[in-house]
Amino acid sequence: MLQIKDLHAGIEGKEILKGINLTIRPGEVHAIMGPNGSGKSTLASVLAGREDYEVTGGSVEFLGKDLLELAPEARAGEGLFLAFQYPVEIPGLSTINFMKTAVNEVRKYRGQEALDAAEFLKLMKEKMSLVNIDKNLLTRSLNEGFSGGEKKRNEVFQMAMLEPKLAILDETDSGLDIDAIRIAAAGVNAIRSKENATLVITHYQRLLDYIVPDFVHVLYNGRIVKSGGKELALELEETGYSFLKNEMNIA
Ligand code: ADP
Ligand code: MG
Ligand code: MG
Repeated sequence: MLQIKDLHAGIEGKEILKGINLTIRPGEVHAIMGPNGSGKSTLASVLAGREDYEVTGGSVEFLGKDLLELAPEARAGEGLFLAFQYPVEIPGLSTINFMKTAVNEVRKYRGQEALDAAEFLKLMKEKMSLVNIDKNLLTRSLNEGFSGGEKKRNEVFQMAMLEPKLAILDETDSGLDIDAIRIAAAGVNAIRSKENATLVITHYQRLLDYIVPDFVHVLYNGRIVKSGGKELALELEETGYSFLKNEMNIA
């Protein structure tokens, strides 16, 4: 599904990602962990196609296409979804109207007809019950005055509506409270299938108590320095990241 080969990228002439290799297959959940500043959010931003970031080498193939050649909207159309970082607040735009536009843009990209009002309502009801979201939340302005938990619930709902092939979740360093984590994880787990994949990016291991990964990778100084199964996350929780400096012999 996703094949990253020797990816180098940076911002304002500074190299941040220094040769990332990662392969994700359908049905898999991968976690990327690592200390603050290691390049986790940069990787998520490069995959989503944020324009401030410059790719200086390597390749990313997504479902057989060159991802780096695609505009951000086209990446979403192909089935890539990035959540959890800096959710936007849009006063005056209800979540429902925002979702209608987003869903129909993705459908248009895929050559499908726009959903009419009744079809959209049906899809919404189905996904609302799947991720357990309150109807009242959807009529309020997008993210405006939402609590942390409500923002997460809303994002998971957006993810459910767009039915992504690969969802990338970047948990900010400030972290979510435990309720928000449970909400987010329950939604992600409800959406998981053999056909789609998830990339969870997190500084902390606690999110991985709820979204259990098949593979865990440690990102350090722009490189994946260690990969393993879910037990690697538990190991990191105990030892912290200090082992990296010794093991990698990096000052
Ligand atoms: P993480 O998500 O693992 O904490 P980031 O990808 O946010 O790491 O950051 C990696 C490195 O890139 C850090 O040294 C950070 O200071 C730098 N960086 C990130 N964003 C910018 C930016 N917009 N301008 C300059 N440097 C940046
Ligand atoms: Mg950071
Ligand atoms: Mg980050």
